[in-house]
Amino acid sequence: MSSHTTSLNPCLSCGACCAHFRVSFYWSEATAKGLPENLTEQINTFFACMAGTNDPHAPRCIALSGQIGVAVACQHYEMRPEACKDVEAGDEKCARARARHGLPPLPTAQDHAATAQ
Ligand code: SF4
Ligand code: SF4
Repeated sequence: MSSHTTSLNPCLSCGACCAHFRVSFYWSEATAKGLPENLTEQINTFFACMAGTNDPHAPRCIALSGQIGVAVACQHYEMRPEACKDVEAGDEKCARARARHGLPPLPTAQDHAATAQ
């Protein structure tokens, strides 16, 4: 989830990427961001991930509240790992995550540009 600040933000009625990708990071990032231990899972000596995202069948971040595709929120948005910012609304990863949850892709920047012409 890239942002959650405006009511027009499509992420607020989506949340698909928080229930698709394993959100992993170097373990010290959790400490640096103040993420509570119960929100993370150790993957190996060096890497951890957001709890719930390491499930290959039904990943869902423990910090995600709400119903995917309806209304969601990240309960620890200010502390979220940098990996959460890798998915931008309308990019290819976003489209893949949304497809997994039966949601159509968002318009891309090119789509917006073509509409404006
Ligand atoms: S999949 Fe796309 S629209 Fe949905 S929350 Fe993630 S970035 Fe936002
Ligand atoms: S920390 Fe927040 S933004 Fe990141 S995957 Fe979890 S719910 Fe989504």
